[in-house]
Amino acid sequence: MTNFRFVALEQTIDRQVKEVVYPSKKISDYYGSMTFNQAVMKEYLTKEAFKVVMKAIDKGFRIDRKITDQIASAMKAWATNKGATHYTHWFHPLTGSTAEKHDSFVSPMSNGLAIEEFQGASLIQQEPDASSFPSGGIRSTFEARGYTAWDPTSPAFIIDSTLCIPTIFVAYTGESLDYKTPLLRSIKALDEIGTQVCKYFDKNIEKVYPNLGWEQEYFLVDNALFSARPDLILTGKTVFGHSSAKDQQLSDHYFGTINRRALAFMQELEIESHKLGIPLKTRHNEVAPSQFECAPVYEEVNIAVDHNQLLMHLLDTVSKKHDFKVLLHEKPYAGVNGSGKHNNWSLATDTGVNLLSPGKDKKDNFRFISILANILKAVHENEELIRASIASAGNDLRLGGHEAPPAIISVFLGEQITQTLNEIESMPSKAALQSSNNSSGSLGFPKIPEILLDNTDRNRTSPFAFTGNKFEFRAVGSSANTAKPMFVLNTIMADQLTYFKADVDKLIKEGLKKDDAIFNIVKRYIIESKDIRFEGNSYSEEWKKEAKKRGLSNHSSTPEALAAFKSDKTVKVFESHDVMNRKELEARYEIKMEKYIKKIQIEARVMGDIAINHILPTAIKYQNRLIVNAKGLKDVLDSKTYVKLSRNQLNTIKQISEHVSSIKELVDSMVGARKVANRIEDITEKGYAYRNNVYKYFDDIRNDVDKLELLVDNELWPLPKYRELLFLK
Ligand code: ADP
Ligand code: MG
Repeated sequence: MTNFRFVALEQTIDRQVKEVVYPSKKISDYYGSMTFNQAVMKEYLTKEAFKVVMKAIDKGFRIDRKITDQIASAMKAWATNKGATHYTHWFHPLTGSTAEKHDSFVSPMSNGLAIEEFQGASLIQQEPDASSFPSGGIRSTFEARGYTAWDPTSPAFIIDSTLCIPTIFVAYTGESLDYKTPLLRSIKALDEIGTQVCKYFDKNIEKVYPNLGWEQEYFLVDNALFSARPDLILTGKTVFGHSSAKDQQLSDHYFGTINRRALAFMQELEIESHKLGIPLKTRHNEVAPSQFECAPVYEEVNIAVDHNQLLMHLLDTVSKKHDFKVLLHEKPYAGVNGSGKHNNWSLATDTGVNLLSPGKDKKDNFRFISILANILKAVHENEELIRASIASAGNDLRLGGHEAPPAIISVFLGEQITQTLNEIESMPSKAALQSSNNSSGSLGFPKIPEILLDNTDRNRTSPFAFTGNKFEFRAVGSSANTAKPMFVLNTIMADQLTYFKADVDKLIKEGLKKDDAIFNIVKRYIIESKDIRFEGNSYSEEWKKEAKKRGLSNHSSTPEALAAFKSDKTVKVFESHDVMNRKELEARYEIKMEKYIKKIQIEARVMGDIAINHILPTAIKYQNRLIVNAKGLKDVLDSKTYVKLSRNQLNTIKQISEHVSSIKELVDSMVGARKVANRIEDITEKGYAYRNNVYKYFDDIRNDVDKLELLVDNELWPLPKYRELLFLK
């Protein structure tokens, strides 16, 4: 029988570094060349049409039908010039990936020839037969009525000769069936109230918007080895595998020299990303062997999310050209670090101010601390929802694993900010600002040292850390669509600012000066949200105990975490800002739970298959060899020597039997538990059944299999081992 492991290993021996051909000497020559960006629009559109699009992007105005025809025609002209033959609405259904259905530009004529055609109607709206996308019961399958609608705020782009038009995906009844719709709604909500609040500090501010800079971690594995591991193919992770004698203990991979083949892959990834206007900036080795990271310059959140989705697609397609497979799973290998996607989030204004930047003078500080206090309050009030926003079967394996932030949400601020907040707390409430003779009042406010701006005060164990001029949300999983944590942050912030405005206005009405009113409320928020702040080691056991005392949640698995998505509190937050209604939230809850169940179910099946059909026969084969050998020894040795020398061998035979029978028993029990779980109708109960009764076998089965890996002849072992998967040739 063929041992596919050795076939795969053979293939990796003479892997060559693939030559990378740059389109031009300078990146700026081809940057954005495959996007229908502002410069292109200016060139291809009439002045009038260009103005309308800009207004739509800026203020969300509707685009007139006549103009959309013009835009469509310009897009077609540009795209066909670039060699595009097809177009598609590109959207983010709730599967978590992206979807597209390609239509050709070609339109036949009566004379037997054809022309390229693309009309406004096809640009702004389409009705994909989308009955197989998850909808959590919103759109019953027999209706299959959902439509996609153009999002002009995210530039169209060409990939694989296809013009891709970013769109939202909604049901005919108006409910969102995707990630982009709630994201856009949350951006709008935050802009509306954020602008009102910012006018307390600067009357000229007309727009507030969130920025996102993501950092994407991933693993590379040789394609041949990947193909020899059914678990990697079907689940994206290894369900078995004894740790390699050496992996990340020496920390010699982190920021080390990049493997030549990996570097060539990254270079090509960057070329393709830059053509699509994804501003990739950094690349480096991560902690685990064959783990890497890339990050762009931050962008407006809607575009950043689209770019991250696109990048995940590019990772996959470009890696194949270099005989790699990219693993985006949060925990592809046990025992070494998993992968996350840090989300650097900040709030900016149309006046060019970063609201999370402490600023140079006391006036800026006052604004900064006010916004900060609102963030603290928002996170404190909604910590469970934030946890829910990053929940997935894959991320469960990473959170709290001494490599990633725990499932407890807390905020790290650093010494200086903490000190400033403490000072504010001890200031007398009403008199604080009035006592200063300054009309703006803000002079009484404590000064934040300049040094903060080049902040080096880093706590890598915190899930939500302030890093100088932004918050770094580190608990997001590597495969996640970042829209989810982002629309949650935007929405809870919009909600919080609404309360803030009401609280401040009330005090002003009672006769307080504006700055005094703000100060009073900010001070109150700082005190009320204190429990969410934690500066210590978030990986420690003490923090778990302390967090419990503080009443913070610690939902270690997805089924528990997801409950926050449909609590009355969450529904109120989302409904009051028109981001999502109860029906949409419940649908999302169902889809997420269903996905969790299916992931665990598939993993359980893969484990059962590999254990029973690959591992056990291998173990028995080796055991038989030992038995034959032992019998032979008995023939050739005198009985006294035989007893003395065969002890270890017989012991190994026994050990193998023990593991074999244990695996068989555990897999049988797991299959039994799965059958029981599958009969459960209620989705919540079913989720818990999978979590509590099926998942619980995983570690034990793995333990037996990994022990066998150490006992069985290396020549017979069917699966590529960790030491082979983790180190790139
Ligand atoms: P690291 O966290 O690895 O030290 P940086 O802090 O330099 O790296 O940047 C990480 C990410 O944060 C990058 O995508 C960067 O563009 C982004 N970033 C920097 N400033 C902001 C900001 N004001 N708002 C949002 N993201 C930002
Ligand atoms: Mg970072």
